[in-house]
Amino acid sequence: MNGRIFEKTLQLTKDLVAYPSVSHESNESVSQFVSNQLSAQNFDIEWHHYVDEKGKNKVSVVGKRGGGRGGVAYLAHTDVVPAEDWSFDLSGPFEPKEHGARLYGRGSCDMKGSLACAIVAASQIDAEQQSGPIYFVVTSDEEVGMFGAKQVNSQSIYFQEMVDSGTVGIVGEPTCLNVVHAHKGGQRLAVRSRGRSAHTSTNEGINANYQLIPALQELLAIRQESETNPIYRNSLFDPPTLSWNMTITNEPEAVNVTPSLAQVNIFFRAMPNVNHQPLLEATRKLCTQHALEFDLRDCVAPWHVASDGPWIQDMLRIVGQAESHSVCFATDAGILQRLERLLICGPGDIQQAHRSDEWISFDQLEKGVEVYRRAFEFWATTGQLH
Ligand SMILES: [Zn+2]
Repeated sequence: MNGRIFEKTLQLTKDLVAYPSVSHESNESVSQFVSNQLSAQNFDIEWHHYVDEKGKNKVSVVGKRGGGRGGVAYLAHTDVVPAEDWSFDLSGPFEPKEHGARLYGRGSCDMKGSLACAIVAASQIDAEQQSGPIYFVVTSDEEVGMFGAKQVNSQSIYFQEMVDSGTVGIVGEPTCLNVVHAHKGGQRLAVRSRGRSAHTSTNEGINANYQLIPALQELLAIRQESETNPIYRNSLFDPPTLSWNMTITNEPEAVNVTPSLAQVNIFFRAMPNVNHQPLLEATRKLCTQHALEFDLRDCVAPWHVASDGPWIQDMLRIVGQAESHSVCFATDAGILQRLERLLICGPGDIQQAHRSDEWISFDQLEKGVEVYRRAFEFWATTGQLH
């Protein structure tokens, strides 16, 4: 690749990382920036907006360039995980910094570097030569409930068009540019005990923990069941289990106050072809027996497509690899699976995502542009590989 393209990609990644679009803040300004970038390349823009539960403006941008049907879509998110624990000492999380052939910054790997690669790749495609459309779907809140993808799924005219016309969708989450055809989902639930707060120097309080404690051993047994019973395994994944995790919180936490709330927060990674309902039912039953609240929270469905699907095989040829893989993290693909011809392929290593010194290598940025350019050419211009 020529150096100018790389410089452009690096600069665009830095511009994106500089927006502190942590999921609990608004992503409106970074979305405006993405929209401007796409508009400058003659994309038509859909602007999907909502106000989240904390009153912050959230935006997903859907862009389209070129007529015809089918074509190709690139999918990303602009929100990033928090950076309070940022540990890279040469610069802050939102001050992108080059160091040792890497770009450091929150979101550099997950997934603003990928988005920059796709935007630059689109700029290398002559719109006059397009035989099918190129779409961009750039969502909010992917890290915290995928509300942006949910809105796109239910409201976007362009997304409906993609569904109806068999567009190939590339979710650009970091996979080291490996082609992925399956991922786990996610399910949150809470088990809750309520008491009454009071200063412990009085007898007024009811400690919420005391109702919960006898149930904990049984909750642990359900977790063990999820790990050991083969019906809860799918060998497509590593690890092949649901990765059932529990945390316990108290409110208030001061040690001289009786807590009015004790809550077990459970999260597990749902898998295709694994029915986890018996585990949920066992948890619900236990809650009834111990007079605890059972609260089933939001979930993301697991996602998988046939690994021998023609679009998977085409993408393998584009990246020059022999076989596709599965991953254990969820993506917007779980929400957007009405789009049948989906795959995941993006620059950067998931090991570097969400870390306190998040980075992406220059090499992955260079290769990312190349892969997306070839994919856009293949599905939206000639139907050939170059
Ligand atoms: Zn991501």
